[in-house]
Amino acid sequence: MRRDVIVIGGGIAGISAAARLAAGASVTLLETESRIGSHSSGRSAAIFVQNYGGATVTEVNAAARAFFDDPAEITDLPLLAPRGEMLVARAEDLAAMEDYLRHAREVEELTTEQALALCPILRPKAAQRASIERGAQTIDCDLLLHGFAKLLRRLGGQIETDAPAQAIAHENGLWRVTTPKGEFSAPVLVNAAGAWADPVAEMAGVAALGLTPYRRNAAILPAPSGTVVDDWPMVVNAAERWYLKPEAGKLMFSPCDAIATTPHDAWSDDMELAEGLDRFDRDVTYAVTRVERYWAGLRTFAPDLVPVVGFDRQARGFFWLAGQGGIGIQTAPALAALTAALILGHAPALPEATVRALSPGRFNG
Ligand SMILES: Cc1cc2nc3c(=O)[nH]c(=O)nc-3n(C[C@H](O)[C@H](O)[C@H](O)COP(=O)(O)OP(=O)(O)OC[C@H]3O[C@@H](n4cnc5c(N)ncnc54)[C@H](O)[C@@H]3O)c2cc1C
Repeated sequence: MRRDVIVIGGGIAGISAAARLAAGASVTLLETESRIGSHSSGRSAAIFVQNYGGATVTEVNAAARAFFDDPAEITDLPLLAPRGEMLVARAEDLAAMEDYLRHAREVEELTTEQALALCPILRPKAAQRASIERGAQTIDCDLLLHGFAKLLRRLGGQIETDAPAQAIAHENGLWRVTTPKGEFSAPVLVNAAGAWADPVAEMAGVAALGLTPYRRNAAILPAPSGTVVDDWPMVVNAAERWYLKPEAGKLMFSPCDAIATTPHDAWSDDMELAEGLDRFDRDVTYAVTRVERYWAGLRTFAPDLVPVVGFDRQARGFFWLAGQGGIGIQTAPALAALTAALILGHAPALPEATVRALSPGRFNG
């Protein structure tokens, strides 16, 4: 089947970009699994933190926030709910805290007492210094993903699940992608394959960029007995030793692990979870006796930790949308808009310096 654009990857990156592209091009999205959002996009902490991700990413976050605040194009329901993100530091984490606060916008410092009032299980020594981004929000990830999928279909785009790209060739200006559901061809190929972005590039004969997937564990813990946690902010140790986030009356917990690995269907590692719970135990008065559910996902980073969005300089029509690491949900609306602008030939809404900083040309230009 001949299209204008083929998108590989049915996570939030691919689905949102395909939806934006469908406004001006015929688009087919190919996904290996039988449903969209099966990998990283279905396993996140679902938080929007304006200050997370460094200078380039905070520009992207700000642009994405405008969409999240007014998502009428994809849903009548709100995508965000107030949560707040509180950063806490032990004595040995003060340098990490200082570093974060130096670049942070709209963050308020808190006393130890104020921090403990917001999250009463914290030990005072765990919050020697504390700050809060009150504007941090919980994201409804399902609504975001399926809202963009609906927009894509409404605009005539096609989502093919159970359709792994098994071979990719470039002939006569067209990318030809072979899948169990047949062959698809287009002059533009968007590589939004998450942890598999480098292998997909190599399958297409394009040089890999050195993207590395890092596994991160997460778990659901019962709320401390007799405690209502719904109004707590997300609480993050400034040196990323652990975080917790209220989740439907319980606590989502992560040991903030980042183990370099290869692309795979990530599964939880008991030892990493246990070590993280041990670090958590030093900082809280809550004794965790039960883990209700646990999982793991991959956060895939470029060597400089900045997402890669733009046409490959060496391979005509090959577009990278990868390396979103730990901010792929919150940045998706802005990176999708940038993808569509660069492919359809519109002026990007993001500042020029940000577009340059995201470009794959920084590696292979
Ligand atoms: C524990 C955890 C917590 C996180 N918390 C947050 C958070 O709070 N906020 C935030 O913004 N981000 C968070 N993230 C990061 C976020 O989840 C990712 O950045 C984002 O989901 C990446 O989306 P993606 O579409 O690039 O990748 P994915 O969702 O992994 O999608 C890639 C898709 O490509 C498909 N694919 C691969 N190869 C092929 C092929 N050959 N043919 C067809 N399809 C293929 C895969 O099957 C997969 O579905 C978190 C991640 C983890 C693991």
